[in-house]
Amino acid sequence: MLLTCYGLKLTMADLKRIQQCLSKELTTDYLTKIANRRFFYQHIQQLTDQRFTLIIIDIDFFKSINDEFGHDVGDKVLTELAALYAKTLSQDCVFARLGGEEFAVYVPDDNQQYAIDLSQQLLSIARTIELTKQRNVTVSIGVSFKAADESLAAVLKRADLALYKAKNNGRNQYSLA
Ligand code: GH3
Ligand code: MG
Ligand code: MG
Repeated sequence: MLLTCYGLKLTMADLKRIQQCLSKELTTDYLTKIANRRFFYQHIQQLTDQRFTLIIIDIDFFKSINDEFGHDVGDKVLTELAALYAKTLSQDCVFARLGGEEFAVYVPDDNQQYAIDLSQQLLSIARTIELTKQRNVTVSIGVSFKAADESLAAVLKRADLALYKAKNNGRNQYSLA
């Protein structure tokens, strides 16, 4: 039993619970309740020699969703998309919100066909979210595969370049780097 400066009596179990709560808070995105950027980077930084696939997903024209339908609808799109993706992705993957309307998926192997199939599935899932009868949500996706000797910064950069290519080619599509 510990006595704090506030006169509170805390057991080791209390302390452990507090620590777990704080740690969860630090690694969870406040809006979507999925993992946040901190968790994602901490996770992939540990995997120095492992091959993996990195998928970056960015909602298309999200600013215009906010502008036309309001910030609350924008928030709802983020939460709904995150929930649909979290439900679809395998337990082996790490899925996080990197910030704004950008998400990332870590896939623990570098199988190209799997990454293509998964990207197509993620594109279709986004299109199920209807904003109006005429307009559905779309996303663009950048995919990179980490080679054994490659730095994390290099893989991230390539995924970003691939995303940029998908945007420039017309959005609502994936691109591989
Ligand atoms: P692009 O197709 O090129 O990706 O364009 P975009 O409009 O999606 O991208 P841009 O970077 O111009 O705009 C992103 C917008 O996302 C701007 C910002 O206000 C909004 N945003 C960032 N975080 C949140 C959030 O938590 N909730 C809501 N509703 N909007 C957010
Ligand atoms: Mg963006
Ligand atoms: Mg965007």
